[in-house]
Amino acid sequence: MNMIDAATAQAAYRDELVRAGLLIPTGVDGLYGRSGVFEDVVERFDALVTRWGGKDGAEVMRFPPALNRQYFEESEYLKSFPHLAGTIHSFAGDEKAHRTLLRRLEEGQDWTEEQVATDVVMTPAACYPVYPTIAQRGPLPEDGKLIDVFSYCFRHEPSIDPARMQLFRMREYIRIGTPDQVVEFRELWLERGREMMASLEVPLDVDVANDPFFGRAGAMLSNSQREQKLKFELLIPITSTEKPTACLSFNYHQDHFGHLWDIRSADGAVAHTACVGFGMERVALALFRHHGFDPAAWPASVRKLLWG
Ligand code: ATP
Ligand code: ZN
Ligand code: MG
Repeated sequence: MNMIDAATAQAAYRDELVRAGLLIPTGVDGLYGRSGVFEDVVERFDALVTRWGGKDGAEVMRFPPALNRQYFEESEYLKSFPHLAGTIHSFAGDEKAHRTLLRRLEEGQDWTEEQVATDVVMTPAACYPVYPTIAQRGPLPEDGKLIDVFSYCFRHEPSIDPARMQLFRMREYIRIGTPDQVVEFRELWLERGREMMASLEVPLDVDVANDPFFGRAGAMLSNSQREQKLKFELLIPITSTEKPTACLSFNYHQDHFGHLWDIRSADGAVAHTACVGFGMERVALALFRHHGFDPAAWPASVRKLLWG
């Protein structure tokens, strides 16, 4: 399938989802409201994730979809993904500046000049607030840490692909500890993720992947990430069978975040980290794609798993 065919298929499927009322368009590509039916599927899948992962005793943390700007700056996100970042700016001028703003708005000119960066930045991945938070607690316990997060995430990647949103939800488990503990966690979830998604009776494949690092230096980072098999994705066809969509991802960061925030294992070594991420909207879209737009008509076995 060439690029034009792919784009046509994506646009057509988005239109279908909108006509069915599952996605509510806002006039911005990648920014959607969702119906009650869609949200019910997201909630049921979230509960399914808890059933598979909740028994491991993760500490639950819930953050708003924004990050302390200082954490964001320390994370080096701007080095790797400047094109995806969403910073929050706000008006901070005086009355004169306000009058200018209103005049520009009225005249249809750029009114954003006076906007200044606030202390918060949109969360790019649900696990980002966790590392600096854990670092502040001091050295890890003997058996490391396991954290459970769920957050809206923002990425500036507008697309007509209904599966590529600018604001979407990510559930994650994050393991922080020794290399052995962290690698074991990722192996466990590679298996579990496959089994869990297979139980939902959708076609799937697991493959090595890379993040979209920016620029020419980024291409090298992507290659080395692939060579070292640091990222895997669980792929399910949504708008294309040739190019299936990443619905879960399994990431081994080695000591990258441990170094940035000086997270230490109980033995004093720099901690390693890994995370498994569940793309909530993508999983819902995959279920709608393979079982139809009406969950009442889904296979009884799948309904039972999700609704009991
Ligand atoms: P892709 O390769 O498709 O861009 P990704 O590698 O950027 O995905 P991760 O950064 O690993 O994805 O994010 C974890 C999960 O969040 C993904 O597996 C996916 O399910 C979901 N996700 C990522 N980007 C988006 C998006 N733009 N819209 C909806 N869900 C997304
Ligand atoms: Zn993560
Ligand atoms: Mg991406």
